[in-house]
Amino acid sequence: MRVTKAFLPTLKEIPSDATMISHRLMLRAGMIRLLGAGIYSFLPLGYRALKKAIQIIREEMDAIGAQEFHLPALNPVEVWDETGRTEAFGDTMFHIKNRPYVLAPTHEEIITSIARSFVKSYKDMPQAWYQIQEKFRNEPRPRSGVIRSRQFTMKDSYSLDATWEGLDQSYEMHSRAYHRIYQRCGLNFFVVGASSGAMGGTGSQEFMVESDAGEDVCAMNDESGYAANLEVATSRVPPVGRVEENPPAEKFATPEARTIDELVEQFGLVEERCAKALVYIVDNSPYLIFMAGNDQLNESKLQAALGANEVRPARDDELGELTGADAGSIGPINLKTNVPQIADQRLEHANGLVSGANENGYHFRNIDFDRDAKITAYYDLRTVQEGEPDPLGGRPLRVVRAIEVGHIFKLGTKYSEAMGATFLDENGKTHPIIMGSYGIGVERILACHIEQSHDEKGIIWHPALAPYHVHIIALKMQSAEVAAAAEDIYARLAGENVEVLLDDRTNVSAGFKFNDADLLGFPVQVVVGERNLKDGKAEIKVRKTGEREKVRIEEVVTRCQELLGELAQA
Ligand code: ATP
Ligand code: MG
Repeated sequence: MRVTKAFLPTLKEIPSDATMISHRLMLRAGMIRLLGAGIYSFLPLGYRALKKAIQIIREEMDAIGAQEFHLPALNPVEVWDETGRTEAFGDTMFHIKNRPYVLAPTHEEIITSIARSFVKSYKDMPQAWYQIQEKFRNEPRPRSGVIRSRQFTMKDSYSLDATWEGLDQSYEMHSRAYHRIYQRCGLNFFVVGASSGAMGGTGSQEFMVESDAGEDVCAMNDESGYAANLEVATSRVPPVGRVEENPPAEKFATPEARTIDELVEQFGLVEERCAKALVYIVDNSPYLIFMAGNDQLNESKLQAALGANEVRPARDDELGELTGADAGSIGPINLKTNVPQIADQRLEHANGLVSGANENGYHFRNIDFDRDAKITAYYDLRTVQEGEPDPLGGRPLRVVRAIEVGHIFKLGTKYSEAMGATFLDENGKTHPIIMGSYGIGVERILACHIEQSHDEKGIIWHPALAPYHVHIIALKMQSAEVAAAAEDIYARLAGENVEVLLDDRTNVSAGFKFNDADLLGFPVQVVVGERNLKDGKAEIKVRKTGEREKVRIEEVVTRCQELLGELAQA
């Protein structure tokens, strides 16, 4: 491609609402343009890169024997009603006005409906089905450019198995394919244990890219290899335990103390022996929840522990009705109603505790949870903190922000049961198909690569994703010699299937061309100028390292290929 023929609308000015580097650089490099909130057009340069990522994904999915589908994005809403997900997705799902159709935010239901009709026997499985297609989600806060948009490309695959061991194998196979995909894309990534939502179990992992701008938070220790999404991360924080003296619980006035810190300060208490009470509404039922000291309640853990669809903190008016007191004075003794009580596992069997008296301005001390509270269950409900001992080796946890680029998930029989997708085993017995679901956000691969690989001048593409491999900069296209040499290199590179862009503009300065080349960031630049041509040479610059070398014109193509090979390995 020649710059004079190409549609390459690079930008100097960046819209002020674009704060993430990848978002800014994708706009500046003319890869994408905003059409509406969370809706992006991919322009030719961006689409070339997107297609590279898609091809890598396709090759690795094919390599594990997965078969490619192309499913409709327009779905009859009744398919979604079968699993109750029309309601579960709520506003996140786009509905077609006055028509019983939705735009698919994912495709479990469609896959299950196909499986229901055609997969009848254990002999029909295992199957692995995938597609690379548009998804639609009415994200409430689209931001960060293509990292969270309302229409995006997903590779989604689904495994169908007759046994749970089969599901384990399908899951492992996908995990390996995912490792290869992100490695080939040159991404620096890590894998974390993730929440399986209300379904429990450990069959869910996310592929993450560390980034300060990420919306996910993970806890990890590089030495032990422990890594988990904060939604499920645990640590070896010791239990609060028991003290020897165990006198009866005693009410005392705390008019000035509403927070744990105020209690600790005013009465010289041990923070973790203050049992903080929170009231949550869990799928419409209230729960009183106790946490040790300032431990943070983790809503994802709460949701998973109770198998709930939705959890929310109670409103102030609800607090009073249920407990008889305002926030800050709530506790296990003298509750106004019989609200069910649960607690974080650190508080199991603990005594010598201080908690609210369900009367504003009063607390109880010497509370023994085994004696004085009606706790029905203890769960791990707390959010781990930076520096706490990791659960594997007790080494300090690092808490980092990250962007989720992929997710693998053992679905089990949730969808097959809901939709009646069953098969017959060897003995003619009927079972629901055992499923897995595996997603990759394709645009996120590009954006995360740019987050990790750029400098102040622009993008630094890995050859695997680069829209073009070589950028030829003809310094003075007006000069017949320069034009001839540049055209010659251009033709020979193209002949070797190297993807090449030739800056053949006559109306812009050399400096302008250099800046554009660094902004677009293709791995290798070839500068053709009069001075070097006198010696029969051109200059080659590696975008990533800035290293330059003078190379004989005849050798430019071979040298470019060598350098691209080296960069691809890095
Ligand atoms: P998130 O928690 O970031 O919203 P998710 O858990 O909803 O993601 P999945 O339903 O597992 O995501 O989708 C699979 C993959 O699709 C994700 O790992 C992510 O890479 C990508 N993805 C999800 N939502 C978006 C979006 N709005 N824009 C771009 N990519 C997305
Ligand atoms: Mg989401």
